[in-house]
Amino acid sequence: MNNVIPFKNRKLNSYLEQDSEGGSPHPVVLLGAGPGDPELLTIKGLRALEAAEAVVYDRLVNPRILALAAPACDKIYVGKRKDRHSLPQEQICELLVALARRGKKVVRLKGGDPFIFGRGGEELDALEAAGIPWQVIPGITAATGCAAATGIPLTHRDCAHALTFITAHRRQGELTFNWRLALQEDQTVVFYMGLSVVAEIAAGLLARGKSAATPIAVIANGSRADQQLLVSTLAGVADDLARVELPSPALIILGDVVALRSQLVAIAAQIHP
Ligand code: SAH
Repeated sequence: MNNVIPFKNRKLNSYLEQDSEGGSPHPVVLLGAGPGDPELLTIKGLRALEAAEAVVYDRLVNPRILALAAPACDKIYVGKRKDRHSLPQEQICELLVALARRGKKVVRLKGGDPFIFGRGGEELDALEAAGIPWQVIPGITAATGCAAATGIPLTHRDCAHALTFITAHRRQGELTFNWRLALQEDQTVVFYMGLSVVAEIAAGLLARGKSAATPIAVIANGSRADQQLLVSTLAGVADDLARVELPSPALIILGDVVALRSQLVAIAAQIHP
């Protein structure tokens, strides 16, 4: 792809070093790219991408979405690389400010929605502090994207009256989320960033009294051509996952709605045999 700039090259450093050229900067657009399928980008998002002169993007952004930006647009990757860390959040914020001050039309492109486990708020704070205008264009978050792609209704009048999104990563070796929140009845729980801790989540919920038969789905690469779906129960999911080894990114959906999927698929098969 043209103009893909690794984050430590000279051109990028020159952006960071140069001072403002004056004039009023364009608003920096925080854009949600959705879960992967480029068709799930909003029309507003597509227009912003086509007009962009610099796109600052993360690991989860599908290259096909990046390719919608103009060939001359600078595409700056700030996500994780193999065995290396991502550009620290502080430096990403500095980069956005520096590019905007250079008079560039900047799009900050993030997987899913920028405000759902996407650190979009921190970037807005930095732009605000620097007096740079901004705009947020939402994206389809992984939960709704994966649910749609697998036919799992996230809410249902009979069994899911609430929906909880939980980030399942660890801090200092511990899962830090609120277990009580995850244990509430009559709801669906969606865990982001939980693939490597599925067994721990399942064991923790079982130990706290959640039914062993609770249906659970793990969806990898949701909405993409290589999507994979595993449907299991809370008691069986760790073993099942050990057998199939799903790739990342993957999302976990827990609740009775997961079992509705098979009914819906059966009905759809009757309608479209
Ligand atoms: N802002 C993003 C979430 C970023 S956190 C959003 O709104 O979707 C990253 C986590 O999102 C991943 O660890 C995974 O749990 C989930 N995720 C993102 N894209 C996904 C996809 N296509 N399929 C499955 N899970 C996905």
